Formats: sequence, C-alpha cells, structure tokens
Amino acid sequence: MAIVKLEKIKNFMDISPAAELLLEKNEKEISFSVNFKTKDDEIVFCDAFVVYHNVVLGPAKGGIRMAENVSLEETKRLAKIMTYKNALTELPFGGGKSGIKIPSYKIDEFTRISIFKEYVHMIREELVSGQYIPAPDLGTDPFDMAVIYGELHKPECVTGKPVKIGGLPGRLEATGRSVATSTKLYVEEIMKEKLSNLKIAIQGFGNVGRWTSYFLQKWGAKIVAISDIYGGIYNEKGFDIEKLFEYAPTKNITISDYPDAEKITNKDLLEMKLDILIPCATESVINEDNAKNIKCKVIIEGANDPVTEEADKILEENGVEVLPDFLCNSGGVIASYIEWRNAKSGNQTEKEDVFNEIDKKITKCFYKIREIKEKFKISYRESATYIAVKFLIEAMHERRWL
Ligand code: NAD
Repeated sequence: MAIVKLEKIKNFMDISPAAELLLEKNEKEISFSVNFKTKDDEIVFCDAFVVYHNVVLGPAKGGIRMAENVSLEETKRLAKIMTYKNALTELPFGGGKSGIKIPSYKIDEFTRISIFKEYVHMIREELVSGQYIPAPDLGTDPFDMAVIYGELHKPECVTGKPVKIGGLPGRLEATGRSVATSTKLYVEEIMKEKLSNLKIAIQGFGNVGRWTSYFLQKWGAKIVAISDIYGGIYNEKGFDIEKLFEYAPTKNITISDYPDAEKITNKDLLEMKLDILIPCATESVINEDNAKNIKCKVIIEGANDPVTEEADKILEENGVEVLPDFLCNSGGVIASYIEWRNAKSGNQTEKEDVFNEIDKKITKCFYKIREIKEKFKISYRESATYIAVKFLIEAMHERRWL
C-alpha cells in the first residue's frame, strides 16, 4: 500500500479539492508499442508505458520495469509512490515510471539491445529534454541503462549506469544501505536496543535483501533467517553474510540449499517469532491471509508494497509497527540523484560519501516522521504520507499551481 489514502491525511491537514486532484491525477500517461525483430527474424510488438504522476518538484524520476505482467495501472501506481518518495526525502524530482511488457528473464542480449534502442526512439523527446529520467527497476539493469545512454550521449538523461560510464560507486548497495540504516535507527531510537540483541529475518536475497543483510551484520546484527523465491534457511546463531555471498554470488543461485542451516519455507520465515522482519522480495507478501500470524515487533519494508492495505490494519490492531517502503528503500533514488547531479556538474563521489549522504537523508526523515507520528498519534506510514503531502502542497503553492 506504500502510502495511505488522502482521506486519512485530511483528518490532520486541510487539502483543497484542487490540491487533491493534482495529487491524484497523473500529469502525463504515454502508451506506445516497442516493435522489434528477434535474431530469428520474428517481429515482436510489446506494450510500453511512461507515466508522470506529479512533477511539481522536478523532472519525473523512476525506473523501467520490464515484466510480462506489467500494465499501465501498475506503472501509474509505481509513479505515484515515486512522487511521495522524492517528496519525503526532499529530492528535486517528480514521480515517474516506465513499464515494458515482456518477460525480461526470457530474452537474449540481442533482443534486449533492440528493445532499449526502440524504447529510446519512441520517447526520445521525453528523455533528451530531461523531463523523464529512467533508472533500472525489476527486470532491468545497469547494462540496459548503458544502451539508453549510448543512444542519447547525455549522461544526465539516465541513472543507474555501470560505474565506468558515469554510474555511481555505491549505487548497487544504496537501497540495502537505506533499509539497514532505517532498521538501525528504529532499533536504537524506538526500541532502545542494540542490533546484536535482536532476532532479524530477511525475505529476499536479491539486490535489496543481500545488501541490507550485509550492512546490518557489519553493524553487529544477528540475521537468523533468510529466504529467496525457492525457500529459506534458519540458523539461530545468525548467518555469516559474506559466506552467503560466496555461496550465492548472484540471485540466480538459491540460498535455500545452503549447508549448515535448517531449511524453512517463506511462510515459516514470515510467521516466525522475531524482533524484526524485513521483507525485501516482492509486493503483497504480507496480506489479509497471513497478517494475523505475523509475530515480529516491527516490519521494515525493504521491497515496494510488501504489506497490503488490509494487512496494515490487522498489524496495527496487533501492535506490529511498520516502517514504510518510501522511507526505507529510498537509498536507490537518493543515489540516483547523486549520479544525476554528478552528470550535470562533472563531479565524482566516493562510495563512502554516497553512503553518508544516504544516511544523513534517512536520519533526517526518520526524526521528522517520528515527530509527526507522536504529535498526531498516528502510524509511521500516515506520518510519512503527511510529510510528503505537506511538502508537495507547499511546492505547488510556490509554483502558483494553487
Ligand atoms: P531482485 O530481483 O534483485 O531480488 C528479489 C529477491 O526476492 C530474489 O532473491 C528472489 O528470489 C526473491 N523473491 C522474489 N519473489 C519472491 C517471493 N514470492 N517469495 C520469496 N522471495 C521472492 O530485486 P531487488 O532489486 O532486490 O528488489 C526487491 C524489491 O525492492 C522490489 O519490490 C523492488 O521494487 C524494491 N526496490 C528495489 C530497489 C533497488 O534499488 N533494487 C529500490 C527500491 C525498491
């Protein structure tokens, strides 16, 4: 669910009908077809979408999702989350997203290159003008961004590029870094605990899950359970994450067969007695069917939308707090912002400085969210939505949209 409905925010803030419309309606929706020939001379037509949600803060920023089930509806939902994520972290970007409807995992390199060249061809003006700045999302990667860059020759037109061609050191780890920093802040500031005293489980061992577990363990945390799509593993003493990296260097190798661990299912992992649960896999994994079985004290949302609206209510009734995705996983877009800024200025940033900038932004947001939460006695998600809405409305006044 990511953000709460504006109806809830209206209990604490006046939102005019015009402001509400500007926060609900997409500014631009583009549907087009990416047509190309495969190596075997087969002609393929695939649907593609670009959505700008609200761009009061700056150009539309958001990744390209490539999957067989991606739709205009999903692209719209994700663009909206980007508006709120950028507003919460005070980045000079609006909310945007792209979708290309084709199964990413089935296509060969030749086809991928053809798709991204054609994608640029179809929306060249949006990209060259800098109105929409893409990045990788599910199903796309830095090499796809390199193809886009190769077509445009303007480094600021796309982020998430490989490091040698203007990508950012630390971009790979950035999202996991912000999830880990959010977790550490919650543990130290709210639970008044030490990471080393707590039982933590992480669902997903892809980009977000592996770097979240890496930083948390580096800071002393005990990660007792980890899973991927094939299943999970449990060790009550905690895993050595670097050994898991060696065992499964990419997400194509499952950690579910890792020796010296008890095998568990994803259901076991989500429902076990824990201090902290960090879903870093995919959306809606905590839903109305299993929310009542969740036994952790807090959920730190690493993935986008891992908790459904119905589940959120049940968790609240059961006293399980949730730190929302658009705070916790914003490290990716913060790093993208640094990459974009460097592309425009010619500056370069070291990895440690990228991590420091992410930590600084996350910490500032965390304290603000806590302050508003305490002031209005609301949830973290409501508080984060309130802050983003207030920022967006003020910006809309400044631009004389309102
Ligand atoms: P990824 O593809 O690298 O990894 C996903 C991991 O989750 C894999 O280990 C996969 O096996 C596992 N998984 C997938 N479906 C599962 C399921 N149903 N049950 C259990 N495990 C499952 O993806 P990622 O980049 O790590 O992204 C994960 C989530 O974080 C997504 O929701 C994504 O939108 C969000 N996110 C990613 C970034 C980023 O920078 N990568 C930024 C913001 C948000």
